[in-house]
Amino acid sequence: MSLDLIVRNAALPDGRAGLDIACEGGRITAIEAGITAEAARVIDAGGRLVSPPFIDCHFHMDATLSLGLPRLNKSGTLLEGIGLWGELKPLLTHEAVAERALRYCDLAVAQGLLAIRTHVDVCDDRLLAVEALLDVRERIAPYIDLQLVAFPQDGYYRSPNAAKNLDRALDLGVDVVGGIPHFERTMADGAASVAALCEIAEKRGLMVDMHCDESDDPLSRHIETLAAETTRLGLQGRVAGSHLTSMHSMDNYYVSKLLPLIAEADIQVIANPLINIVLQGRHDTYPKRRGQTRIPEMRPHGINASFGQDCCMDPWYSLGSADMLEVAHMGLHVGQMTSREAMRFCFDAVTVNPAKAMGLDGYGLDVGCNADMVLLQAADPIEAIRLKARRLAVVRRGKVIAETPPQIATLSLDGRPPTVDPAAYAPPV
Ligand SMILES: [Zn+2]
Repeated sequence: MSLDLIVRNAALPDGRAGLDIACEGGRITAIEAGITAEAARVIDAGGRLVSPPFIDCHFHMDATLSLGLPRLNKSGTLLEGIGLWGELKPLLTHEAVAERALRYCDLAVAQGLLAIRTHVDVCDDRLLAVEALLDVRERIAPYIDLQLVAFPQDGYYRSPNAAKNLDRALDLGVDVVGGIPHFERTMADGAASVAALCEIAEKRGLMVDMHCDESDDPLSRHIETLAAETTRLGLQGRVAGSHLTSMHSMDNYYVSKLLPLIAEADIQVIANPLINIVLQGRHDTYPKRRGQTRIPEMRPHGINASFGQDCCMDPWYSLGSADMLEVAHMGLHVGQMTSREAMRFCFDAVTVNPAKAMGLDGYGLDVGCNADMVLLQAADPIEAIRLKARRLAVVRRGKVIAETPPQIATLSLDGRPPTVDPAAYAPPV
């Protein structure tokens, strides 16, 4: 019989090697050595790494690729970014938001990034960005799983119509309940917003993903409330705490009490290394805090932690390229996660861990899973992060949807072999 696709001689992220992956009807039908069937398309992985697709569980697609509109962020701070986004909002059109989002999705597909959770600001009474991204979610569904979070950027209580607009956005089909407790007027308002938003999620049967404690304030403790409300309402495993940068600055004794509470509530932790390292510590002279939350300390508690990209060429960040290996690379450095085991974790933090945080069905390289995968120009996950390896082939439901030629040097200066593949320098594991 003839299959849709066979990927031959693949190395998997868990270390297994020399395997063939058979795909039929959009699913993986076999993973074993020496599959004899024929297929409409055969890819020779050549012993290289085949991974399930990259996932970005924290992004802002309504703002992406808007860099310079209507002006640049001079101070580079979070608060100027929020102010600048407020200047841009009245100028947005449905068409422009959708067009930028779709351009970004093209880039994401080429980078093997096939699932994205994006926050969408609901503080504009027109809900223009919500409607534009709902359109985009439908249009790109054949390629990317897009989840939308109703995000009250200017505060659930602080912005006059945010509560009403958030309900409207959820009625329109937005998937997840968002929040921003540290931006409310008072700590008490922040805590009240966490409780109110978790109750909305419980009533509607939705997940929660809050921007939580995105500050350098060691006393910003909304994550404590988020964990407590999650447990009270029985939402364990369905609530994400994004950023949690205040934990970087918290008292160590207090953190020793907090981590078990986060574990008990099964909070999905999402750090955003590119953004945390440039936005946090801005009020410091020296030493300057890094601001990334305490990922290595969470791991022994069994807390599921992921890395998100957050921003790409928008009011908060001028760089970004939809490359989740760049995100993993930064998270690894900022968190000083340099053991081989910790580096492997950093690859999981942009693949399997965010799949769990987003509750994606059929994700992974197993028989019966969706036939979605990425062939990388690397031998293993650590080398993929080191090289920010090329995506030689991106597969969605058994079809190749993007290809990039391998990076090779063909010039020989001194008679050495003329072809140099950067992946050839991998050390033995
Ligand atoms: Zn964000």
